[in-house]
Amino acid sequence: MLDARLWKPLPTATGSPAGATGSAAAEADGARVQCRLCSHYCVIPAGETGRCGVRVNRPDAHEPGETGTGRLFTLVGDNVAAVNLDPVEKKPLFHFMPGTLTYSFGTMGCNLSCSFCQNWSLSRPPSEQGIVRGQRTTPAKLVAEAKASGAASVSFTYSEPTIFFELMSDTADAARAAGLATIMVSNGFQSPECLAELEHRIDAANIDLKAFTERFYAEQCGARLKPVLHTLRTIARMGWWLEVTTLLIPGLNDGPDELRDMARFIHDELGPDVPWHLSRFHPSYRLTDRPPTPPATLERAWDIGRGEGLRFVYLGNMPGHPAESTHCPACGALFARREGFHTHLPTTSRCARCGATMPGVGWDTPEN
Ligand code: SF4
Repeated sequence: MLDARLWKPLPTATGSPAGATGSAAAEADGARVQCRLCSHYCVIPAGETGRCGVRVNRPDAHEPGETGTGRLFTLVGDNVAAVNLDPVEKKPLFHFMPGTLTYSFGTMGCNLSCSFCQNWSLSRPPSEQGIVRGQRTTPAKLVAEAKASGAASVSFTYSEPTIFFELMSDTADAARAAGLATIMVSNGFQSPECLAELEHRIDAANIDLKAFTERFYAEQCGARLKPVLHTLRTIARMGWWLEVTTLLIPGLNDGPDELRDMARFIHDELGPDVPWHLSRFHPSYRLTDRPPTPPATLERAWDIGRGEGLRFVYLGNMPGHPAESTHCPACGALFARREGFHTHLPTTSRCARCGATMPGVGWDTPEN
């Protein structure tokens, strides 16, 4: 358990500091803290955790019987639950250092509670069962392993990196110092304060845009759409390489009007070159009453995205589909071919047929 960052103690209802009133209720009230890591801004009483289940308020009581002021700790600051060496395309990032490997890790826990979570065995145990498992680690150890593995980058992923902010930040600093790029794969529900802290630590991100209605975010994820849109706009402004993913769930977020609204938002507010990954849903966690997304639905969504002017729309969880590959938006020629995680890449960022330059980072091999 390590000290958490980005939180503040809350004053008592009367404004008195904790322990000054002599009232037990006021003292307990004075031990509350507010976590400022994500847009839930949880107010956490003494002895309790926030909604993610991995940030706990343990009041700073030095003497037996004393009521201290609140103090927030993280249960996942040195505790990884999943580590793998992945193709960067698996994040998915198709236009950032293509063809390279990324050292990927995550802890347990998540600040959202999506009914369709595809990683529920990692994300749910802290908030549902109070269980936080993992292996002790340090940023230096993670970066040393990443370097030894031959990875070109470190990815903060699998569950939700916002809730392991301290480990992500310190590892990002160490990774950049060691010449590795940094990638965040996230639901985009960070607070603006959290994003500001990350601005100069992250190089690329894939952010979920899970739907385009507040109702979906409230009913299916226990969250809100508006902060996610703010995150997406902020990342585009900060200049990280950005790609967006939407998991298409039959009957919940796959209507043509909603998809058109999403595509217009990406095009108008993030830019036409931001890749949009449309991913196939498979029944998971609590959402087992729906079929996998029909391929025709994904193809219709692809048409909508391209029709709204997005230059790079991809289909995910559809191995072998032509829409996994990158085509030149200027002349239509095949530029980068993908089959699952097998990639056949060009050696330059220029289209061999028409010479157009492909947006992204790292298309060119060193001799080009
Ligand atoms: S990270 Fe979010 S969910 Fe977790 S305690 Fe902080 S505000 Fe609450």
